[in-house]
Amino acid sequence: MKIGFIGLGNMGGPMAANLVKAGHDVTGFDVAGVTVEGARAAGTAAEAAAGADVVITMLPNGAILRAVATEVIPAMKKGAVFCDCSTVDVASARAVAADAEKAGLLAVDAPVSGGVTGAAAGTLTFMAGGSEAAFAVVQPLFDIMGQKAVHCGASGAGQAAKICNNMILGVTMIATCEAFALADKLGLDRQKMFDVVSTSSGYSWTMNAYCPAPGVGPKSPADNAYKPGFAAELMLKDLRLSQQAAEAADADTPMGELAARLYETFVESEDGKGMDFSAMLPRFEKRHRG
Ligand code: NAD
Repeated sequence: MKIGFIGLGNMGGPMAANLVKAGHDVTGFDVAGVTVEGARAAGTAAEAAAGADVVITMLPNGAILRAVATEVIPAMKKGAVFCDCSTVDVASARAVAADAEKAGLLAVDAPVSGGVTGAAAGTLTFMAGGSEAAFAVVQPLFDIMGQKAVHCGASGAGQAAKICNNMILGVTMIATCEAFALADKLGLDRQKMFDVVSTSSGYSWTMNAYCPAPGVGPKSPADNAYKPGFAAELMLKDLRLSQQAAEAADADTPMGELAARLYETFVESEDGKGMDFSAMLPRFEKRHRG
């Protein structure tokens, strides 16, 4: 397949490299001038998109996606698929898909889970929104870049699934960290706490697979001085997206709202910037009630 890939950062770079390795004809563009071995380098986003069967975008946010889509959609050939894999707000995902469809293209929003290691290993999970016809075209590409792709529904459904998942993740990480900090103050050994909770009803991905306590559970960013991993800033971005969506949809999400506020304080007023999102544990360790 002829693929245009726009946004070759931490995620997009290795995703594009996996498509090249699988034998696809990839033309890449990144505003920062980054290139991917084996892919042709385009001078503009429109040039990367021209003649492509599928254009994939992996960009920082919805505003940049909208700007890139405005440039790219008119350059694409009729019937081609515009597939955005960035994490953006549901409204931007739907607006870009509507513009693409108006221009005679197919559109898919397909944010991913699995982080930079999943991008490099080709083990991402894709959650997709769009028509059956559009999903059918990009599914073989998801199979190369990932291990699972779920077609969640119409345009925007992929982004909806992603921000709901990450709202659970943010809330659960905070709960796991505050429970460890409480256990410390109650004199409970962290390893014993892990042994109990990881096999009891408090178990979760944050406890069992990404334990925020150093030296406990499987290796995680906590064992590497809380270097990301999944940065606290990115968690804040996703929690803000979930709260923006909740407001637009009139949904009551008090735990998500509190998690967004805590990560905002952590990143903007405390020492969370540049740290993994599990560094909430040392934050709670240092704090006292009241
Ligand atoms: P990144 O900042 O490393 O990459 C984004 C790239 O987009 C950069 O290389 C940047 O130069 C490029 N870019 C910006 N504006 C552009 C433009 N106008 N035209 C072309 N290129 C442009 O970010 P990332 O970690 O690769 O994340 C990309 C997306 O994936 C984000 O939406 C993020 O939320 C999502 N995501 C990231 C992770 C993760 O663990 N890093 C996990 C899941 C999802």
